[in-house]
This record gives sequence, C-alpha cells and structure tokens, in this order.
Amino acid sequence: MAGHIFGRSSKATLPTAVRGDGCYLIDADGKRYLDGSGGAAVSCLGHSNAAVRAALHAQIDQVAFAHTGFFTSEPAERLADRLVANAPDGIDRVYLVSGGSEAVEAAIKLARQYFLEIGQPDRHRVIARRQSYHGNTLGALAAGGNAWRRAQFAPLLADTTHISPCYEYRDRREDETVEAYGRRVANELETEILRLGEGTVMAFIAEPVVGATNGAVPAVPGYLRLIREICDRYGVLLILDEVMCGMGRTGHLFACLEDEVAPDMITIAKGLGAGYQPIGALLTTKAIYDAIASGTGFFQHGHTYMGHPLAASAANAVLDEILDQGLLGRVQAQGSKLQSALQSALGQHAHVGDIRGRGLFRGIELVADRETKAPFDPSRSIAARIKKEAFAAGLICYPMSGTIDGQHGDHVLLAPPFIISDDQIGELVDKLSGAIDRAIA
Ligand code: PMP
Repeated sequence: MAGHIFGRSSKATLPTAVRGDGCYLIDADGKRYLDGSGGAAVSCLGHSNAAVRAALHAQIDQVAFAHTGFFTSEPAERLADRLVANAPDGIDRVYLVSGGSEAVEAAIKLARQYFLEIGQPDRHRVIARRQSYHGNTLGALAAGGNAWRRAQFAPLLADTTHISPCYEYRDRREDETVEAYGRRVANELETEILRLGEGTVMAFIAEPVVGATNGAVPAVPGYLRLIREICDRYGVLLILDEVMCGMGRTGHLFACLEDEVAPDMITIAKGLGAGYQPIGALLTTKAIYDAIASGTGFFQHGHTYMGHPLAASAANAVLDEILDQGLLGRVQAQGSKLQSALQSALGQHAHVGDIRGRGLFRGIELVADRETKAPFDPSRSIAARIKKEAFAAGLICYPMSGTIDGQHGDHVLLAPPFIISDDQIGELVDKLSGAIDRAIA
C-alpha cells in the first residue's frame, strides 16, 4: 500500500483487512482474528450478516441519498419509529446523525437551544463525570472526563465541569454499603449544581455503563435513579450517552432500561449501524421537541448526511435482527458465560483486580498489586502490550490505559458480536489470558 492515508495508527504497519466471516476478520495473508471487541463495540452482528447486506443491496437499488432539506425517506422514518417504540418512557423524537461524537454535539446544542427557547438563557453549563468518553469533536471532548485528552486542546469551548464517576471497585469504602456508596457519589451532582449556581446548569451527561475510559463499569443499582431525581429537583436535563453501551450491548436495547431510568436525551451510534454504515442518533422527549417546534420552529443544527437512507436501512436491518431474532436474550446468556469464563481463567490472577460489566460488555482491570489496587507504572504500557500480544495471537480486544485519573491504570474492554458461540468465548478467554501473561511477564 502507498501509505498516504493518515489516522490513529499512521506510524504502525497494519495488516490489510480483506474479509469478514461472522466473529472473525481476515487479513490479506489469510490470518483470522477473533473480534473480541467488535472494533470498539461496533460490530454487534459480526462481519457478514446476511440480512444487513440484503437490506443495503435493496436500498442502494432504490435511493442511496436524498438531502433532508428536500426529502424524508422510508428507511429513516421507519428507523425513528422503531427506536421510539422500544425506548424508555417519554422518548418520542429522533435526530439522525453519522456517529457518536455528532450525536453528543447535537445533544449539547439541543439542550442549549431548549433553554434559550423557554427563556432560561443563564442555563449554559454542563456537568459530566471524570473518566468518561463522549467523543473527539470539541464539545464532546470538553464533556469527556479524560484530563489528558482534554489538556492537549485546552482551552476548550464548552462550559463543562466534572464530578466523580460511579466506580465501585476503586471508590466504595469497605465500611460502606453499595446503596450508601451510590447515594454518596450521586450527591456529588447536587453539590456541584449548587456550587455552580442553581439555574446555570443545563445538563448532566453520563454513560450508564462507562466504556472506553474505564472498561465496562456499570453504575451501582439505584445510582442513576438518584441522579434523575437530582436533575428533576434543579431543572437539569439528563443526557445518557449510550453510544457504546446501547443497542443491546448490555442485554437491553437501551442500557438505562435496566436501571429503570428515563432520561431527557439518549445518544446512540456504534451498534446502531453495526459497522455496516456510519450512523448515530440523538433521541429526546416530546417536551423538548415541542418547546423548539413552538419557538424557533426548528433545531438550529444539521449535517449533510443526517437521515442517510442507506445508513438508515442498515440500522433498520440491525434493529430487526436484534429485536426479532431474540438477540437481547442471547446477549444476556452469552454475557453470563463470558463473565464466568473470565472469572475461572483470570479471577485469581495476581494482576487482575476486577472483572465486571453487563451483557456482552465486559471489562478487566489490571493492577500491579491486588491488595492495594495500585496500577502498573505507566512506563510499562501494559494495555498497549496486551493489545499487541492478543493481536499477534489472532484476537482483537480493546485495551486502554487511563483508568485511574485519565492517565494511569490499564484495562481491557471486551464487546464481542452478539452471535459469539460458546467455543468462541473459550477461544477469546484463552487468547486473552495468554496475552495478559506475556504482556506482564
Ligand atoms: N460516546 C461514547 C460513550 C463513546 O464510547 C464514543 C466512541 N468511543 C463516542 C461517544 C464517540 O463516538 P464516535 O467515535 O462515533 O464519534
């Protein structure tokens, strides 16, 4: 290859992916890689899904693109209807975009426009959580909690502050019940709203299960409900970022359904197109939509490819597969098997501190010392080494550093396709255990 393309791995010599086969990707030399992370929680149906391919072929023969300034399209309308029908209570409107960062940007702008429309212009602040990832565009980057990522581009545009995430493994005190811990950490939101000034905060944004920065960390039971109550008390909008954990990844179409919390906005992407098309969506309530419709009349935001018919047709086929082929139940069943297999192989490992997650969204936290939970020295680049060792052995997983304070700490994120078989779970865990041992040795 000539090498003119640049991007995240421009310095590395990467193999060329030439074919997908279920849970495997195949390179130009014929080497097979088990996709243990769906890229980054994208390929939820694997790499050669017949229904999605058929839907795309059918749609491209009809219409590939029609600008939303002139037309709507059947696939886009159907997608919005089906998402709303399966969303938490109150969610009634869908704004289609091309990816996760775009969905988060749209959410922040929609929150701002909403408060302008209802005559509360002083509400412009966003509260997010440390150790979160919301995307790489400027607004989404400002919301994200990784201090290292933000610092390089500071000063950022958005008026955002950060509170603690809900991170039981690291932060719950020994003498504290899970419930008390959830309450303590949720109360930080109230303290922060009062510190910033009541009436100045427009939104709180959080991932129900933290993905990239922490490695599949679910909030403790009850936490999100308390967050909802605090948001309601102070008139703050609750935005749940389900770009990674949504679309069935946790065994529920929307992760927050398990927490029984209805947010004001939800962002989704990744699994929505399952890698077959780039697509994302911002879902919101009738109340927010109506305030804008009866005010300015339209959301002052837009992208050329929003509502792209081809992308929407892929997403419809993905949703049909997930909802009509019983994949949510399968995610729960295979997710429990994956958790048990990880526990048996790595539960007693001297350098595995925690194995956690929901559904087929699992995280393994590596530590230098299990007793003190001290992370490895960053100079050892444990996460990067695990990635390299696993890849050499034919396993794609998603190791990251940045667990503890946005700079230190290592974890591995697993998000395999929902179709993963029992044998493939065995292969994944074997290859991962070997890679962890070789990386730490
Ligand atoms: N939010 C979350 C929770 C994510 O995990 C990501 C991507 N890792 C994004 C937003 C940004 O999505 P994208 O990369 O599609 O812009």
